[in-house]
Amino acid sequence: MSHVLAAVAWPYANGPRHIGHVSGFGVPSDVFSRYMRMAGHDVLMVSGTDEHGTPIQVQADADGVTPRQLADRYNRVIVEDLHGLGLSYDLFTRTTTRNHYAIVQELFEGLHRNGYIVARTTLGAISPSTGRTLPDRYIEGTCPICGYEGARGDQCDNCGNQLDPEQLLNPRSRINGEIPQFVETEHFFLDLPAFAEAIGGWLDRRENWRPNVLKFSRNLLDDLQPRAITRDLEWGVPIPLDGWRDRADKRIYVWFDAVIGYLSASIEWARRSGDPEAWRQWWSADAQGKDALGYYFMGKDNIVFHSVIWPALLLGYSGEGDSGGTAGEFGKLNLPTEVVSSEYLTMEGKKFSSSRRVVIYVRDFLERYDADALRYFIAAAGPESNDTDFTWAEFVRRNNDELVAGWGNLVNRSISLTAKNFGEIPAAGPLTPEDEAVLAVAKAGFETVGELIGKHRQKAAIGEAMRVVAEANRYLSEQAPWKLKSDEDKPRQATVLHVALQVVSDANTLLTPFLPHSAQKVFELLGGEGVHAPMPRIEEVEDLDGGPGYPVLTGDYRVGARWESVPLVPGTPLAAPKPVFRKLDPSVVEEELARLGGDES
Ligand SMILES: [Zn+2]
Repeated sequence: MSHVLAAVAWPYANGPRHIGHVSGFGVPSDVFSRYMRMAGHDVLMVSGTDEHGTPIQVQADADGVTPRQLADRYNRVIVEDLHGLGLSYDLFTRTTTRNHYAIVQELFEGLHRNGYIVARTTLGAISPSTGRTLPDRYIEGTCPICGYEGARGDQCDNCGNQLDPEQLLNPRSRINGEIPQFVETEHFFLDLPAFAEAIGGWLDRRENWRPNVLKFSRNLLDDLQPRAITRDLEWGVPIPLDGWRDRADKRIYVWFDAVIGYLSASIEWARRSGDPEAWRQWWSADAQGKDALGYYFMGKDNIVFHSVIWPALLLGYSGEGDSGGTAGEFGKLNLPTEVVSSEYLTMEGKKFSSSRRVVIYVRDFLERYDADALRYFIAAAGPESNDTDFTWAEFVRRNNDELVAGWGNLVNRSISLTAKNFGEIPAAGPLTPEDEAVLAVAKAGFETVGELIGKHRQKAAIGEAMRVVAEANRYLSEQAPWKLKSDEDKPRQATVLHVALQVVSDANTLLTPFLPHSAQKVFELLGGEGVHAPMPRIEEVEDLDGGPGYPVLTGDYRVGARWESVPLVPGTPLAAPKPVFRKLDPSVVEEELARLGGDES
């Protein structure tokens, strides 16, 4: 049994999240965490909304609200959406808490004290008409490397290179088209080259990573440059150094503060749990947490932050880069065990795009369909290790042919037949080889499905669980218990139905990490009482250090099913089942396609 940190990517709070986002970080991390808890591990699953940075500042300006008001709005929307999906965060918080500010500043100071943060004078862009700083990504121009005309000041989407805005040819403001003016400004940089050796050694010791993630991460080490960690901006965490602390125009760069959220959320969770030091069991590299495991879940555009930058911050704070140093008050901190990155989900062959209406938001999805239908699609057909397309036709097909006709049908016919003939779970008589075989297939599923989820092969894992379902459906068809009606056949009917229900119960446990909402229902249909699949709840909390209150996602997940076969108890009363899954009318495909935007770009 281990302490397992599930560190889930932080959704950016500038708008509602669409299903592409949650297929990358949300559902896979929840499946993993639920399984690890059921298998007896001590899981801490944390995340929150990422709320600083220029996009939120710019959008707040456009909407005529403060950045905090904008972040409040979308923090709540995102919390409600993730709750609707049943994602079992121990704590889903936000980056605007005072706790987070204090911990970001502690890491900044520790890195600065150890010599890994250096000041430099650079060129910054300002708008000549307003005199305000023009953020990198709001400057557009021609890429000096590939000649692409729509490159942004922070990177070129055509060749993928990171850029500085003054490198762009023909630069102009994306806000009002004017030519930016470049002036000298002082900023702090993280000395990334000082960690190349330590990160390289750490990557060499990684096992079982998805090969593309490991290769991509290694390649990043070939050309590490010092990276700016402050910005000319009013919205963000203040720089905790004398002469800088009170400046209103300089803030810590949003990416630097957001990755520290994994640690600050863990500490916030511990402070709220009544044991403020409890976070160390997942984080302390030189004490009680040294054997802990840490898994980080994200889409592939975020790999660099988790396989290079976050390890660099942890190493630097722990005093383990080229210049050495001493650990700060948190002590030496654990590096990730594994960076679990998924690929991209596209929609009907196109990139998700809110402006072009090639999108479906989580909220709209959950108004029309069940959370488990989406969770099933993501697990069975999501972008686990290849870019994958979401199509409404495929969503409806998988829902109807696999969930409803496969799993739902097995549950429904085995329970209704038993309810009608016995009203309770019947006792089994002597078992035939066929009975033994199907029971063995279900039991074996615990090892195979569990091992696959543990290795982040969820597509194969749910495939194995659905294979148990298919075997059980075949068993029922072959044994045809509905024909065993005579007095003479009755004992055999009882045995077949007992065996079928036992396999339903086992398959339901195997599917619980993927389909927690319906797993609870199936458990209750089998006469179970209490919690089978624990769910998160939204709680309105006070800021621990005097800031404004906010909603968090949290829950008590120590209850519920274990990862094992539980023998059914004969005599448990059964009622006629209600359908667990909804069959979708094929006409929804046309309706949904009509909601999508056209081809204009
Ligand atoms: Zn380019």
